[in-house]
Order: sequence, then structure tokens, then C-alpha cells
Amino acid sequence: MSNAPTLQSFIGGRWIGQQGAQALRSAIDGQAIARTHEEALDFSEAIEHGRKRGIASLMALDFQQRAARLKALALYLTEHKEQLYTLSRHSGATRADSWIDIEGGASTLFSYAGVGARELPSGNIVHEGPAMPLGKQGTFAGTHILVPRGGLAVHINAFNFPIWGMLEKFAPSFLAGMPCIIKPATATSYLTEAAVRLMHASGLLPEGSLQLIIGGTGDLLDRLQGQDVVTFTGSADTAAKLRVNPNLVRNSIPFNAEADSLNCAILAPEITPGDPEFDLFVKEVAREMTVKAGQKCTAIRRAIVPAKHVDAVASKLRERLAQVVIGDPAVEGVRMGALASHAQQADVAERLDALLASSDLLFGARDGFAPRGEGVNEGAFFAPTLLLARDPHAEGGAHDIEAFGPVSTLMAYDDLDEAIALAARGKGSLVASLVTKDPLVAAKVVPQAAALHGRLHILDRECAAESTGHGSPLPVLKHGGPGRAGGGEELGGLRAVTHYLQRAAVQGSPTMLAAVTREHVRGAKVIESEVHPFRRYFDELQIGESLLTHRRTVTEADLVNFGCLSGDHFYMHFDEIAAKESQFGKRIAHGYFVLSAAAGLFVSPAPGPVLANYGLDTLRFINPVGIGDTIQARLTCKRKIDQGKKSPKGEPQGVVAWDVEVTNQNGELVASYDILTLVLKRPEQA
Ligand code: NAP
Repeated sequence: MSNAPTLQSFIGGRWIGQQGAQALRSAIDGQAIARTHEEALDFSEAIEHGRKRGIASLMALDFQQRAARLKALALYLTEHKEQLYTLSRHSGATRADSWIDIEGGASTLFSYAGVGARELPSGNIVHEGPAMPLGKQGTFAGTHILVPRGGLAVHINAFNFPIWGMLEKFAPSFLAGMPCIIKPATATSYLTEAAVRLMHASGLLPEGSLQLIIGGTGDLLDRLQGQDVVTFTGSADTAAKLRVNPNLVRNSIPFNAEADSLNCAILAPEITPGDPEFDLFVKEVAREMTVKAGQKCTAIRRAIVPAKHVDAVASKLRERLAQVVIGDPAVEGVRMGALASHAQQADVAERLDALLASSDLLFGARDGFAPRGEGVNEGAFFAPTLLLARDPHAEGGAHDIEAFGPVSTLMAYDDLDEAIALAARGKGSLVASLVTKDPLVAAKVVPQAAALHGRLHILDRECAAESTGHGSPLPVLKHGGPGRAGGGEELGGLRAVTHYLQRAAVQGSPTMLAAVTREHVRGAKVIESEVHPFRRYFDELQIGESLLTHRRTVTEADLVNFGCLSGDHFYMHFDEIAAKESQFGKRIAHGYFVLSAAAGLFVSPAPGPVLANYGLDTLRFINPVGIGDTIQARLTCKRKIDQGKKSPKGEPQGVVAWDVEVTNQNGELVASYDILTLVLKRPEQA
């Protein structure tokens, strides 16, 4: 105990904490491995530092630059991951469990770096377009923008994923430009502290963008303001207490909660013990019981099984669980570690007792439970425990009690409607798995279960090899569920970033909207000059720079030539009689001909700064183009994104999106789209 280091908070740009306080013990052998600090924290300092320094330093960067920082941070953490693995063992985690926390955390940073680079603009305003006309003359329009909230994000985390839990919240807040104050659960805060130390040592964190609290939050929540955000992961009881903090309520401070959840897996009625899906179900339930010793918010707590197969499922599960080697993760062959703390061990034991009042024990501590390794008698180990609900419809059993450990309950059902009803008894969960081989069963169950589950995982032989599993929240998919699960939402790619941005509707003339959104808006004043926009370097181009092309009259020869070139001899272009009977009443040009002809009208053919056209967005053919119609194109610089990237030849380049309007002789729009190009930056002058 005397040698256990004192953890430090990082507040106001300095590490605080010299005097040791509460001992944090290894889950493996009970030895004290760290202590919290005695010194009280001044939360006004943390808030002031975040508001003054943090916001300014984050706003000195834009979305693209913060995305690049996230990527660099992910690389740095990955390079230094072994330090974290060494420490992680003390939380009871095996190498595979720690992988989820450490490398899963880093990969969430990588993922958000990609989301930022691909989906966010340069600058610090997101235009949620397109703008929509609000008047007949086109002089008044409306649109939406998202801007940084200008506040702080306080993230309170559970003990089970001390690194991933921090990073999955930090990544989207950082991208959105919000300084974070992180409060990890005390029991495993030594891992969060180690990760935060690495992040600071990387030199990549802007000043004030990440502060850390070891210990309690004191009066922090009482000091927050309306632009701030609180996110919480932990028990439903704590969530219920914190979300009604009078200051949060008075100032409408968003409170996002991820709470305990009684997730389920349903084995569909058509599956028999001979089907591969039967084994997949058993494997998934056993895996969710033993990974992280069942301390996953997404773990399967309720396994809902056709009554006729309950015995077969129970017997296969017993077989699997009996093979799981439990003990110190450092011992060769160990597959399941300990619970995170002795407090947790006592808590799970108490919940198991409560569950046993309405269920039978099918497998548990009596079945050869003997953790391996030195000193494990002082550890926080718990036997994988399988129960069978005596009456799956009864109150007060596994639909209501969460044992946050390797405990799962089998429930028997007679028909699919009963299985759906049992799943709903969880009153809102993070995830449900449906193991079926029948698409009609999936089509029936999923839409009904979706109202009560944040994520639905359909498992069959076709996807099994690639499935990421029931228990893994993914950065690109929403994590969070309704009701008991807390009612919050995290992750889900860009969705998570928007939770940390403020949305505003903006009304005005298209010219004003273009100035605000930094995107060309149809109807806004354009800039026309002698220089073709394709001849300008990325840095020279201005939003709104535009070219109105010469005209071209479409002839029958165009249709015939394009048909022969493309092989597209659709009747609308070639069959005079059928075309006459169609809604257009005449032969019309191929839409793709109109696109190609427009490119011919606006292109500037000689080599220049435009390196490539890599796609089209929002393409619509609005009016038909007939033989004899005359078309003209307007090309306008719509959006510029500087991702800080280089061409394969090493030349700096940026992304430019161009708005294209193709009109006919009556000024009617016939085609409308964006083209996406890569454009060189001006070479450095020698
Ligand atoms: P907990 O006791 O509710 O604690 C969660 C966090 O809240 C910890 O950081 C804790 O700090 C903090 N906290 C507690 N009281 C507080 C207060 N009055 N003011 C400010 N902060 C306070 O939950 P836990 O035992 O750590 O976590 C286990 C539970 O979390 C399980 O029920 C599990 O299902 C749930 N969970 C849910 C998810 C999800 O994504 N939905 C993920 C993981 C876990 P201290 O540690 O210092 O008390």
C-alpha cells in the first residue's frame, strides 16, 4: 500500500495530487496498485481553464485540423499501448478484454478522424443544406447550420471501459470543438489517468482541451451553463440522480445517459439443434458471459429460447462454460479474468441471490470454479453462472435485476409473439440479437423490437464469420437505447459529433446564406471573371466563382451517336412510336448524354490545377431534353475542403465541389448536380 502511486487529476493545465487517499486494489490479487489523491479540487479553476484556454485553442483549429489531430493521437496511443496493457491486467481484464478497451479506444479515434476528414468541412460551420426557397421570386430562403456550442463537455464514465469509455466520448466532442472534463469511475481510474498522461505527453492536445478528475465531481455540475453538455455512463440509479441536478434542469444542459440494460438474445423458433445457428447462439451467449467477465453494458443478460430446445441449449452452454479457464490473465491459457473490484464482486453476488429467488441454477460456482494464479484468493473472481427462469413472465427476475458480471438467464417461450413480448420486458435495452435463418422472422421481429432496443444484431450462418458480435458497439453505428438503457445516444459516426454542436435555422437572401454557410447557395450573387474557374488554384478560388457556358442544340445525331457509343438503345431515345405514347410524347436525349454534353460545355481542356473529377452528388434530371432543344450550363464553385492532403506526386491539393445547373432555351432546369474535384494548391514560389 505504501508503494502504491498517488493518481493525479489534471486541472487548469497542471497535475494535482501528492497525498494518497483511497487505495485502489488489483482485481487479481487484492494488492493496492494506486491511490486516489487527498487534495480537494477547485472546479471553478477547471471550468475557467476550459472556457478560456480550451475553447480558444480548439477554435484556433478547424474540423479538418482537429480530425488530423485525432488521427495523430490514435497513432501515438497505439505506439504506446503496451504500457496500458500492463496496467490493464489489474482491472481483471485478459489481453483480449484489454484489446477492446485500449485498441478499441484508439480505433474509435481513428474512426472519428476519418468521419471528420470525409464528412466535415473546412472551417467551423456545418451547413445542413440544401437551402430551400421560402418565396416565389427566389430572394428569400432558409437553411440550417451547426456550430460549436462554445461550452464544455463533462464526461462521467463507468468502471468497465476506463479507456474506450473516455475516448468514445472525447473523439466526437473534440471534433466538435468542445473541451472535455473527464471523470472516470474511481475503481479503474488508474487506467484513465495513464491514458490521459500519454495523450498529454504526445504534445497533440491543444491547451485546456482535456482535463481529468480523479475522485468526486464536487460542485462541478452546479457550475455548468447552458452551452455545456454532460454525458454519463453508469448505473440507472446514478443517472436518475444526476439528470435532475437543479442546475442542469434550470439551464437546459443536455444530459446524455447510457445506463444498465437487460439485453437479450432470441433463438428463433425454426432453429433446431442441427442448424449452424444453434451453435452460433450458444457461442454468442457464452462469449457475452465471459468476455470482460460479463461486465459489458451490452452483455446478454436474457437468453430467450424455444421451450422445446431449452434443455439442449442449457446442456451446450454448460459444456462451453465448463471449458473456460478462469484466473490471472498473465497465466497461460486463462480466458476469463476477474471482476473489476471487490465491491463489484459483492454487488454481483447480491444480485445473483436476488435472481435465484425466481430461477434455478444450471451452472455456477459449484461446477469446478477454481481461478488459476498466485494470490487469486484475494482477487475479485466470479464464476460464470447460468440460470433458468422458472416463470419467464414473472416480475422481479432477470427482466428487472442486472447482475453486472458473468451471469445470464435462460427464458423459455412457445411462439414468436411471446419471444417478442419477453424481449420488451427489459423496458429498453442497448442491444438485442436475433439468431435466425428465416428472413421473414427477421422482418417480423426487428421492426417491433427496434422501438425498445438501440441496436439489433441479426445473426445467421451467412454473416457469422464477419459479424462483429452482439456486444460490440461500433464507432459508425449508434450506441444507446431507450428507457432503462438511459435514453441516450452515442457514436453512430457523424451523429455523435452533431450532439456536441448547436443547430440553428437561418433565413435570408441566398447571397446572405452563402456568406454565412460558406457554400454557394442557388440564387446567390456569383462572381464572374475572364479566368475560367478550372484555371484557378485551390487557394485562389472563391466560393461563388462561376462560369456560364456557350450553348449547344441537341440533334438527332447526338442521340444516335450516344446510343451507339454507350450501347443504350432504350425505346425513349430510339422508338418514335413508343416515345410518342410515353409521358414525354416524343423521343428525348439520354440523361447521361446531357451530363456528358454539359461537361463538354464547361470543361477547360488544357492541363491545369484540376487534377481529377472523383464523383457526382445529388444528380437529378429535372426536365426532358428533346431533339432541337438548346442546353447551357452554369458551373459555380460551391464548397472547398482542405484536408491537408497531397496528390500521388506529393503536390498539396484540396477538394472543390462545383454546383452545376443545366438549363434549356426557356431557362428551365434540365439537370442539376454537384461535381467533386481535386484541385492543386498554388506551388510555393521559389
Ligand atoms: P455508477 O456507480 O453509477 O458510477 C458511474 C459513474 O458515475 C462513476 O464515474 C461514478 O464515480 C460516477 N458517480 C457516481 N455518483 C456520482 C455523483 N453523485 N456525482 C457525480 N458522479 C457520480 O456505475 P458503475 O458501478 O461505475 O458502473 C456499472 C453500471 O454501469 C452497470 O449498471 C452497467 O450496466 C452500467 N454501464 C452502462 C454502460 C452503457 O453504455 N450503457 C456502459 C458501462 C456500464 P465513482 O466511481 O467515483 O463513484
